[in-house]
Amino acid sequence: MQYVSTRGQTDPMGFQDAALTGLAPDGGLLVPAEIPDVRDRLEDWAALSYPDLAREIFGLFTDIPEDELSRLVTESYQAFRHPEIAPVADVGSLHILELFHGPTLAFKDIALQFLSRFFEYALTQRDARLNVLAATSGDTGSAAIHGIRDRERMNIFVMHPKGRVAPLQERQMTTVLSPNVYNLALEGTFDDCQRIMKTLFADLPFKGAYHLGAVNSVNWARILAQIVYYFSAGLKVMKRTGADGIRFSVPTGNFGNILAGYYAARMGLPIRRLLLATNENDILSRVFNSGVYERGDVVETLSPSMDIQVASNFERYLFYALGQDSARLREEMKKFQSVGRIELPSPEAGRTIDTLYQAGAGTRAETLQVIARYDRDSGYMLDPHTAIGVHVAEQFPSETEPTICLATAHPAKFPDAIREATGREEAARHEILDAVMQSETRCQTLPADERAVKEFIQGRGDP
Ligand SMILES: *Cc1c(COP(=O)(O)O)cnc(C)c1O
Repeated sequence: MQYVSTRGQTDPMGFQDAALTGLAPDGGLLVPAEIPDVRDRLEDWAALSYPDLAREIFGLFTDIPEDELSRLVTESYQAFRHPEIAPVADVGSLHILELFHGPTLAFKDIALQFLSRFFEYALTQRDARLNVLAATSGDTGSAAIHGIRDRERMNIFVMHPKGRVAPLQERQMTTVLSPNVYNLALEGTFDDCQRIMKTLFADLPFKGAYHLGAVNSVNWARILAQIVYYFSAGLKVMKRTGADGIRFSVPTGNFGNILAGYYAARMGLPIRRLLLATNENDILSRVFNSGVYERGDVVETLSPSMDIQVASNFERYLFYALGQDSARLREEMKKFQSVGRIELPSPEAGRTIDTLYQAGAGTRAETLQVIARYDRDSGYMLDPHTAIGVHVAEQFPSETEPTICLATAHPAKFPDAIREATGREEAARHEILDAVMQSETRCQTLPADERAVKEFIQGRGDP
């Protein structure tokens, strides 16, 4: 499979280059040159285990030799605590796809456990090394650290704003004592961390000499790994219910998770609807409901991993929506860059700009109500991100198709929200999180300054 840039000004490349490159050199995002049609394999796939299904799907999109791919998949999913990797719980009339059985208890583990092992493999092939640099306000940094710890040929440097990350999330990062993991607490905000990240990546001599790399959510390998659980859950629920189609409700921030559902639908999984769910940071539900894609101010919510007002993966959606016309896409992205707003054709009344999607948002009060109601009526605890997806699923009920709600984090990661919703102290616990509160930590405090971070990497990055 070859990969092309959404902006059309990069030569096509294979999977390994696409995954190592991340962002295309022309500033676009890499997409597969064609999308395979797997409709005639669904019956066989319904009998496969999660790792076997992953081998089939990765095999369609990658150029990794079969035995190596098989090993990478086995090792990636051995890190999960549930035998089904991503089990589906039936709760009331909904099906909850639990994506939180990995080492950091959030769905990002599913992609980052694989991506880090793939990097190790590719670096060995090339006799190369990589220094991964990341900026995080919580979940991504943690999942990246737990993927890269103990991997050969790689270091990871994760910047977080000192004192501004929830204590549990911070400890999930700083209790990893592996020698190739460096936690940097910057005396500044998350925006400072992101600015420093951008500046260092733009410093091409430094980036080249120190082999800087990223694992951010535009990396194609992350989307690919996420396609697997749409098939796994969709086939499972169709078998369980006898339905011939399903719907997915997806709590969304960067449009990464739901984009994997879009590819699954294009490949032929009978997804009748993708329900896009946002919190008060609703740039994505607004664009689907109105046609206007417009940046807003980020507000703090109970679901911090969705507190985003520019969705980096939306460019891939737009590429397909514009009929894969890269010249048009370049114009639209340039317009968005300069005025912070673009307009797509407005939808018909009661519809969205794309009939595959329905879109809605949940407020803080709705998040708390949904958590409390599921706890009371079903004895099932939702985390605040998952609760937004469940809320939106309830706004758009279906008589005909079962609805699968993606549970993107374990509720114990968000004890304050759970306490507020249920009125109970420690209504959700997890032994891993109990353990991190007791463990030793390692973290370096630095000023929020490019030079300080650069010098730190130069001192530790052994290129
Ligand atoms: C990252 C994250 C999301 C949002 O995923 P996107 O791919 O950015 O849409 C939702 N929930 C949790 C818990 C997350 O960590």
